[in-house]
Amino acid sequence: PHGCTYAQSLESGSKLESPHHHVIKPERNSNTTCSSILDMVGNTPLVLLKNLSQDNGINCNLYAKCEYLNAGGSVKDRIGIRMIEEAERMGKIKPGDYIIEPTSGNTGIGLALTCAVKGYKCIIVMPEKMSKEKNDVLKALGATIVRTPTSAAFDDPDSHISEAQRIKERLNAEKPGSAFILDQYTNAYNPIAHYDGTAEEIVNQLNGKVDLIVSAAGTGGTICGIARKIKERCPNCIVVGVDPVGSLLAMPNSLNNFSGSGFYEVEGIGYDFLPTVLDRKHVDYWYKSVDKESFLMSRQLIKREGILCGGSSGSATYCIIEAIKKFGIKEGQNAVVILPDSIRNYMTKYLSDEWMITRGFMEPTVTEHDPWWTT
Ligand code: PMP
Repeated sequence: PHGCTYAQSLESGSKLESPHHHVIKPERNSNTTCSSILDMVGNTPLVLLKNLSQDNGINCNLYAKCEYLNAGGSVKDRIGIRMIEEAERMGKIKPGDYIIEPTSGNTGIGLALTCAVKGYKCIIVMPEKMSKEKNDVLKALGATIVRTPTSAAFDDPDSHISEAQRIKERLNAEKPGSAFILDQYTNAYNPIAHYDGTAEEIVNQLNGKVDLIVSAAGTGGTICGIARKIKERCPNCIVVGVDPVGSLLAMPNSLNNFSGSGFYEVEGIGYDFLPTVLDRKHVDYWYKSVDKESFLMSRQLIKREGILCGGSSGSATYCIIEAIKKFGIKEGQNAVVILPDSIRNYMTKYLSDEWMITRGFMEPTVTEHDPWWTT
């Protein structure tokens, strides 16, 4: 049972089926060709975290769903393609149109990647907090980028959400019907992409046996899409959401109290409003995450497992270790953590010792003696 079930999935061929499933993705297979890079979104590996489990006294099978291995580098590639393809199917959009989206960056990259391949114009509206790395990838993909103040509340006229709306109205005033916001906060195909894809894959990769699943929440599309499928196929599985301190997505609401500014460094998770796609009745339990533990855990994922993930992956992994202990997940049982994005987005942020030390997430390191082989 141990080992990477991705290898098994390569042999078994594609067998994804669900009521919403329109697009059967080819398996990642070295014996086939792709019609475009969009085929390399989905069918991500589920990797056993042996060393991290050993470090933390965990006996169950702890697996990471490596969403950072999607073509654009994150879980949000799935919804970028799905929201565009569903809008095309409904005849709402056509190549040459403007796709505008307010995002913390990864949905932007997923959309911009799809727009590049299919020939749409893409405008991404993103708070200043989000990394230069995301900005530069978006720019390289041909997107126009507009930055908004991080401190603006979601309903403030300066927020990324309000700004995207204004840009859409301006473009449609010039050329009616040319600009669209697919809107990950309300678009049903955001959670459905995870119901049909992410969760369907996990259930198949583990032969229908999932005991605990943990995902951090931004729009909540990932956690809710996964939770709906898991509750159908593995009714006893515990579904845990992760929300940073400073955000208000967790339940009960008393968990969301905080003192201070409420600012946190981890990107892509948490909000100051409840997105429509986040239907919290599907989530059994919530943890609140903090920056320091999140980034240190992401660094452990890199150092101990070679998993080159982003900061929110550390938030979710820190919490799944807590949850495995709290819920008594035992030897032979399967726990799955979603790793949403890659270190590529944070090369100048949490990967940098200086950045970590400046923020008090790491102690300055004492310079060690040169190792004997260099002297
Ligand atoms: N982590 C990162 C790095 C993200 O960009 C996102 C998407 N905002 C999430 C987690 C959460 O995903 P979702 O929006 O599906 O809740």
